[in-house]
Amino acid sequence: MHASDKTDVLVSEVGPRDGLQSLKRAMPTADKNRWIAALAKAGLREIEVGSFVSPKALPQMSDCAEVVAHALTIAGLRVAVLVPNLKYAQMAFEAGAHLITIPVSVSEPHSISNIRKTHNEIIEDVRAIVALRNERYRGTAIEAGLATAFGCTIQGPVPEDDVLRMAVTMAEAGVDMVNLADTVGYANPVQVRRLFGRVREAIGELCGGAHFHNTRGQGLANVVAALDAGVRTFDSSQGGIGGCPYAPGATGNIVTEDLVFLLEAMGLRTGVDLDALMTARAVLTASLPGEPIYGHVPDAGLPKGFVPAEQRLS
Ligand code: ZN
Repeated sequence: MHASDKTDVLVSEVGPRDGLQSLKRAMPTADKNRWIAALAKAGLREIEVGSFVSPKALPQMSDCAEVVAHALTIAGLRVAVLVPNLKYAQMAFEAGAHLITIPVSVSEPHSISNIRKTHNEIIEDVRAIVALRNERYRGTAIEAGLATAFGCTIQGPVPEDDVLRMAVTMAEAGVDMVNLADTVGYANPVQVRRLFGRVREAIGELCGGAHFHNTRGQGLANVVAALDAGVRTFDSSQGGIGGCPYAPGATGNIVTEDLVFLLEAMGLRTGVDLDALMTARAVLTASLPGEPIYGHVPDAGLPKGFVPAEQRLS
């Protein structure tokens, strides 16, 4: 990795999980491994490589243990996975993941439809996962990802007080970080700035990163608002892959290439090399022929004379 160790913002790549699990087809394991290696080589230091979930529900993720094992061989990479409950958390701990994210929907109807759990059940699960980690797997960090924090396709508006209450409950349950996710792309910048501000006030440094979807084109505007509110970790997926099978034309996460460009252009060091990121994009494109791959910066190219943040500082 030629990028500097000093970074201002952590870009957490979630394409191999959030992106691939939203596609109908499964990417072959060897292609996943090649892609993840290329992403790490570009300087991405944290990658959510898959989810431990029922292979019946999401066959695209059934090779998660193998993918984690490969990712763990990449020096300097923080290997993250998503788990919906205690049983799958145990598998993630045993696989040696550095970080597990538990999706906790602030909207209870979404929680029931997504992981078939009421709030009380998921809170119990989070406590049990933290207890197991504290007893046997101290090396693994636990994040609660507060899904539908900015609105929900089932419930509609989600009251901010509900988000705050859940953030506090998660902090009390002993998680290391609480992220806010705009699962369905409803958020706007004013809301993002206010809600992150309120959550930070409530739980301090446990207030973690932002997970935005670009479904309505507000993703990068929301990133700038979250930066204002002190957020320094952002999830994104290469090529913005994913989306929603029930919303034709909807895109997935914010695009890693565009996010890195935005941050670097604003003078914030990401540690990610944009040229090497394009190499990783070529690996992705070759692995998913015919699949829509998004990104304004990859389409348009870098501005003439563009200088990344690191080089401007030195
Ligand atoms: Zn997502």
